[in-house]
Parts: sequence; C-alpha cells; structure tokens
Amino acid sequence: MRRSEHGPRALRAAAPLALPAAVCVLAMALAGCGGSSGQARSSAAAGTSAAIAHSEGAGTDVPAAHASPPGLGTPESSAVRSLIALGRPIYCAAPHGNEVALTFDDGPGPYTRLVIKKLHLHHADATFFDVGRNIDLVAHATRQERALGAVGDHTFTHPLLTALAPAEAEREIVRTQTALARSTGGPVFLFRPPFGAHNPTIDAIVRDHGMLQILWTVDSADSLGANYAQIERNVIGGLRGGAIILMHENHGQTVRALPNIFGALLSKHLRAVSVAQLLTDDPPSPAQVRGGGAACGIHGRAGLSGG
Ligand SMILES: [Zn+2]
Repeated sequence: MRRSEHGPRALRAAAPLALPAAVCVLAMALAGCGGSSGQARSSAAAGTSAAIAHSEGAGTDVPAAHASPPGLGTPESSAVRSLIALGRPIYCAAPHGNEVALTFDDGPGPYTRLVIKKLHLHHADATFFDVGRNIDLVAHATRQERALGAVGDHTFTHPLLTALAPAEAEREIVRTQTALARSTGGPVFLFRPPFGAHNPTIDAIVRDHGMLQILWTVDSADSLGANYAQIERNVIGGLRGGAIILMHENHGQTVRALPNIFGALLSKHLRAVSVAQLLTDDPPSPAQVRGGGAACGIHGRAGLSGG
C-alpha cells in the first residue's frame, strides 16, 4: 500500500463546495498575479536556463525510502529529506513507477473549490503551490488542499526571485512557508519558484529552510493562454510514470481540461499522487537529480516557461 487512506480523506469530505458570490471578487483580486506572470516570463525563462547551467556540484547518496506516506501534518519522508540535502531542483521522479504528480500553482483562487471537488470525485491527489498573499482569500482552502495531497510554498507576492536581493528573496520564501504552516497546521517542505526562475543562491535558501525545490516535467501551458483542448494535449502527451505536471488553479480552461486528463490517467494505468508521495515511492537517483531537466527529457527551455 502506498498511501494513507484515513486522515486526509476524512478532511476532504468536510470541505464546503462553493463560494459563488466571492468568485468575481477573487478573480479581480488575483488578476495582478496572472498579469505579472506574462510580463516576467521571458526573462524568467532565460534566468532559469542560466541557473541550470550553473547548477553543477557535489551530490549525496539517497538511501532507500521506506517512510510512512505523507499526509496532513506528516513530516517529509526520509527520501524527501535526502533530496532536500542535495540542494538541487527536482524535475521528475524515477521513471519506472506508475505514479504521476499533478501540480497547481498560484492559488488559492476563484476556482480552488471546483478543482478540489473534481480531484476528489476522480480520487486523484495533487500538490498546490500557493502564493502567500492569497492564503486568506478562500477560507480553509489551504487546509483542504493539504488534505488532497500536499501544499507548497510559491512565495508571498509571486516575484521573479532571481531579480531580488538575496535577503528579499529569502523573506518572500520564509514568510510564505510560515504562513502556510500556520494555515494548514502542518509542515511545509516543498517549494516552487515563480516562473521556474532560480539560481544557486535561491537553491541554497530553499535548502537551508528545509524545503525541496520542485520544477516540472511537463508544462500544460495554461498560464501561456492555452485553451482546454491544448492543455489536454500538452498534459496527456507527457503523462508517464514519474512525471510532474505544471498547471494553475486560477484558470477556467484548466478546470475544463481536467476530466479528460483523469480519463487519460486511467487508460494509461497511472495514478495521480502528491509530489511528496511520488518522490517517496519513486525517488530519483542523485545522478538523475544532478542531470537536471535533461535527465527528465527536458531540453533547452522546453517546459520551463510557466510556473
Ligand atoms: Zn506561479
């Protein structure tokens, strides 16, 4: 058995379903986040490529993982702790399993309740990389997201971290880690940099605060304006064991694409689990981690423009 079936599921059933009156207000409140994503994207992608080129260094052996499954309030597994110690971003898990990780960035937001409902209906787990300033926009959302898999730190204001002074970048990261731990009632040990932009300084900050930096194998391109059919094609085309899928929970087109993505998971005999679960069950080797995106089949900037 590879997952816990008690605590998280029990909380999931208690989740309220909708906040119709708040949707428009939230959509307006979140508009700035999406807009800034587009403006900063090209420079972020360039920064990411540079960071990858500079990210070589010594590694550490990863011991076999037999920890208890992650869940509500559960600390990271020994496999995840070993990956944190490497201080390098993760693009995918080992490719030999039947698990994939669906990830949703930039929430909580106006579609969070709907995403949670669809995931619950299809018995799919997920990981939510939340923006600190959005935490209080949807009551109890982060706790419900954690119950569906895991939540991760996506900074407080969604800046391009590589353009900030290190102390300012650290404040963005730590403020959100603290706020998410408080709002979810559990430890926060996953981090994703906005736009995928990181460098060795950011890598070190993330590691020093006990978190694992998660990039992605497949970009759904929802934040680039893809419609639901394109999102389906992008995601389904990249579904394979060990893949980490980038999506956003504040796009209606993404929500519309989910049912066919769940159908493809079934037909490919793949199971959607949280990032923490995926890396616990199928941890990448240190050599694979050192290989960066290329070791996960990512070349050039492909898959590194969203986030
Ligand atoms: Zn983002």
